[in-house]
Amino acid sequence: MSSQARPYLFYWMTYSLCTTCLKNVPAKILFKNDKVIYQKNCLEHGIHEEVVSTDIEYFKLCKEYLKPGDMPDKFQTQINHGCPHDCGLCPDHEQHSCLAIFEIIDECNMTCPVCFANSKPGLGNAKSMEQIDKMLETLIASEWEPDLLQLSGWEPTLHPQLMEIIRKIKASPVRHLMLNTNGIRIAEDLDFVKELEKEKKWFEVYLQFDSLNRDTIKHLRWWDYLDVRFKALENLEKAWISTTLVCVIQKNVNDNEIWELIDFATKYKCVRWVTFQPVEYVGRIKDKEIKERITLSEIRNEIIKANNPFGANDMLPLPCHPENICIWYGIKKDWVIQPVTGMIPKEVLLEWAGNTITFERNEEIKKAFYKLYSLDACSEKTTKNLWTMLCCLPKIITQNLDYTNVFRIIIMSFMDKYDFDLWSIKRSCVHFVEPNGKIYPFETFNMFYRDKIKAFNGLKDKFKK
Ligand code: SF4
Ligand code: SF4
Repeated sequence: MSSQARPYLFYWMTYSLCTTCLKNVPAKILFKNDKVIYQKNCLEHGIHEEVVSTDIEYFKLCKEYLKPGDMPDKFQTQINHGCPHDCGLCPDHEQHSCLAIFEIIDECNMTCPVCFANSKPGLGNAKSMEQIDKMLETLIASEWEPDLLQLSGWEPTLHPQLMEIIRKIKASPVRHLMLNTNGIRIAEDLDFVKELEKEKKWFEVYLQFDSLNRDTIKHLRWWDYLDVRFKALENLEKAWISTTLVCVIQKNVNDNEIWELIDFATKYKCVRWVTFQPVEYVGRIKDKEIKERITLSEIRNEIIKANNPFGANDMLPLPCHPENICIWYGIKKDWVIQPVTGMIPKEVLLEWAGNTITFERNEEIKKAFYKLYSLDACSEKTTKNLWTMLCCLPKIITQNLDYTNVFRIIIMSFMDKYDFDLWSIKRSCVHFVEPNGKIYPFETFNMFYRDKIKAFNGLKDKFKK
């Protein structure tokens, strides 16, 4: 018997992508040096190792949050070439569209180095109302009553018929609508803000907001537009339009600001949600600064280790796509945030949460929230600050739990060719809907389909860097 043990634990296998040729290759999942590593083996390009998590226990926990996916009502493609080349959605996809995205224009008024869409001024291509109708028809055929739709652009506020599109979607079965924007028009055009204000029920602005530091913003966006962001937020606050701050996180650039950004967000009554997204290495940043990859687990640990009420039990895998989405729910009242997620028993989350990112609207979850804010729940949570809980109990119990009291933090990690996992991609629940009648997982669209579709539409030259 050999006396030598291997310096790692071989935990499992999956398929990933060769980072050179993008072919599907087998990947061993190794626990090595307290990290989770994909060891990929391409017969042509050799062995490549990639860190996919810095937290082995959380990696394993994600597997405990798996639940059966929801079937789309209709699939748009057949299984012909094998995943990920049959998008989509093909019948092999295991999850419905929790969050659908319509890219309504290719143009942007910025040129960010981290742009996964490689957008810039001059690309134009505003989708026609007929194309929007087709996208809506495709989504509704797949989802019946879609939970969440995001209008994106690249910069959607440049679309000349944006308000018409918003009204059309609000009159459709879509339950909740988001506008994904860099905020420039919201900062500069008060008439536009007034128009948005009229639509604010079940509507939300998804506002790019990665840093409070001017040099950092310049690094991430090639332009210090912090004042524009502040102005946009001020206008949204005045109009009390529900807002999510979206923070793209790059290692050694703004990962030291994660808690500061959360703290900042809590100061605005319009801000209900902060989303952190590790940079996805596609589009303009595809092969650059690759040493600076950050994983979901590192962002999660930054939040937990900061001096705040968030514990490891509060930042949980979201059952619809646990490996790639981590969620924290809290109740915000009088500028104080009470963590809630860690108090919901795992069985409750798995049974009632449903495959949706907005599970606070689920009646059973609401009941569970109330139940947990009871003396029984407090006694079970002896490690929590009991005094604070008791002080808050009467206020929370006598108040209806509605959307405005819910504060969420989400870490949403989109795979790229480095951490791609064939097992996980089938569970991807953030999807682009295209006028060609197809629905694409966010990751595969950015890696395999976006450029082909644009080339097909005759836009190839415009996309040259
Ligand atoms: S990613 Fe999903 S939709 Fe695309 S080929 Fe794989 S299973 Fe099908
Ligand atoms: S990241 Fe957003 S704001 Fe920046 S260029 Fe791309 S679409 Fe425009």
